[in-house]
Amino acid sequence: MISSEVRRDASTAEIVAELRTRRAFVMVSHVNPDGDTLGSGLALGLALRAIGKRVYYFQQDPVPRNLRFLPDADRVSRELPPDLPSDTLWVFCDMSSPSRAGEFLPSLQSQNVLNIDHHLGNQRFGAYNYVLESECSTGSCVLRLLRGLGAAITPEIATCLLTTIMTDTGGFMHSNTTADVLRASAELVELGADKARVTKEVFANKRFAAIKLLGAALDSARLEECGRYCWSVVDDAMLASCDADAEDTEEIVQHLRSVEGVEVAALFKAYRGEVRVSLRSSGTINVQVAAARLGGGGHALASGLTYRGSLEDGIRDVRRVLREEGL
Ligand code: AMP
Ligand code: MN
Ligand code: MN
Repeated sequence: MISSEVRRDASTAEIVAELRTRRAFVMVSHVNPDGDTLGSGLALGLALRAIGKRVYYFQQDPVPRNLRFLPDADRVSRELPPDLPSDTLWVFCDMSSPSRAGEFLPSLQSQNVLNIDHHLGNQRFGAYNYVLESECSTGSCVLRLLRGLGAAITPEIATCLLTTIMTDTGGFMHSNTTADVLRASAELVELGADKARVTKEVFANKRFAAIKLLGAALDSARLEECGRYCWSVVDDAMLASCDADAEDTEEIVQHLRSVEGVEVAALFKAYRGEVRVSLRSSGTINVQVAAARLGGGGHALASGLTYRGSLEDGIRDVRRVLREEGL
């Protein structure tokens, strides 16, 4: 059982010392995985494997199609070997709460949990917490650890790390794209990161079904609150009629957010018996706080939640919490 006791953050040196001590690692990524949760775990896993450690990658959901190009992605699984040493370190990447890893992890002792993240409101659920809220991605936190470790950053590792940055900055478009982020990205390219491949695989390789689904979601989008709030829904029927699946919904909310005058965009994903909501802000409204009011989380400008109730109630409650945050 993971302790709910709040712990302090560890320094880079403390985490590096712990990484050197342990022999076996399980990198854990979150459900509905993205390029940051997966890329950061793969980057650290590749570096640890290179210095002779045993490394496994746990992810409840399959690797999304657009991330299968990542090195070591074929080793990611929800199955783990039965003979893991008792001092295996479980490295949670890119999640503010361990529940984001899903339901298939064994019960863990907190002294075997390392939590690497950049979300606001991280629960500090590990004995080792490396939470850098000012970083644009969890991969950037891993980059700091790799430098502390003196690890060789191979082209494969650099590609994983560049994927984390490009995912969480929206291809260098979001406001978290600071000069430091661009410098780190340039260094990764110099180290051999395949920028063209990341761009193509992550951003420019959409299935026809995804484009049809985008069209359907844009067609039914609503503009409310005097043009400040744009929202839409994707449901089971829309997925079926476009021959699309959950992975094809990824970029829809960004298009809603890009409408002139829009302060907040919401996409309600009502399928497979769940209502998940993606929120994006243009800057003035903190959607992390709004999502947290309904049990979700994320960042000030990009957050999400799983709504416990009907789609209609979710649409009403999300509008309410956004108004409470100033919409
Ligand atoms: P998404 O809209 O799914 O791309 O998620 C945007 C941000 O919100 C990411 O940083 C996620 O980690 C976070 N997020 C999404 N869903 C949840 C949730 N149910 N609970 C906490 N954070 C979430
Ligand atoms: Mn993520
Ligand atoms: Mn992230």
